[in-house]
Amino acid sequence: MFVGHFAIAFLLWRLFPQVPLPVVLIAVSFPDLLWSLLVPAGIEKVRINPDSPLQKFIVFEKFPYSHSLVLGSALSLPIGLLIAGVLNNPVIVPVFIAGSASHWLLDTIVHLKDLPVLGFDGDRKVGAGLWKRGPLAFAVEYAFYAIVTTLALSGFPLVYALIIGGVFHAINLPSFLGSNRKNSVKSSNGYAILALFGFGTFILVASLAI
Ligand SMILES: [Zn+2]
Repeated sequence: MFVGHFAIAFLLWRLFPQVPLPVVLIAVSFPDLLWSLLVPAGIEKVRINPDSPLQKFIVFEKFPYSHSLVLGSALSLPIGLLIAGVLNNPVIVPVFIAGSASHWLLDTIVHLKDLPVLGFDGDRKVGAGLWKRGPLAFAVEYAFYAIVTTLALSGFPLVYALIIGGVFHAINLPSFLGSNRKNSVKSSNGYAILALFGFGTFILVASLAI
């Protein structure tokens, strides 16, 4: 999931306006930002399908640090503490952990039973697998983004957020519907770098005008 996560960032920002927007945007992206660094480092493993860009064919073999509820949330704590310390704003700590945990929760809707709960060996894995139904997953993710963002923002920031969400989601379209085209991403590292670039760019573009 991509844009759906950012709707929760806008909601957290509405609920805790004393936390700067870039901080909540980073919080909801934290699992994928961490993942995009751990894959090239060889610590977490993903296998892409060179013949299809569809999300349902991506095999997340191992990502206990970035994408487990318990271990992943525990790892978000030091980052939350660090940012809270630098900005001298203690509210950031629980908000950062909540944002990071929301990423895991939303991912359980789309992922294919590959998300670990604890993050340790022999762990239970969950995922409702909405990615198996690409067109539906595409519609549901943007509808969720639009509804939650509308609850959280108003005026120009709302219009801006709906537009950038739509643009980023449209760029993602091949991963939902591109069944008969080759995958433009050729390696797991390429996929990780693309995720880092995508999340980083959205955080930047959203922070610029909201
Ligand atoms: Zn994720």
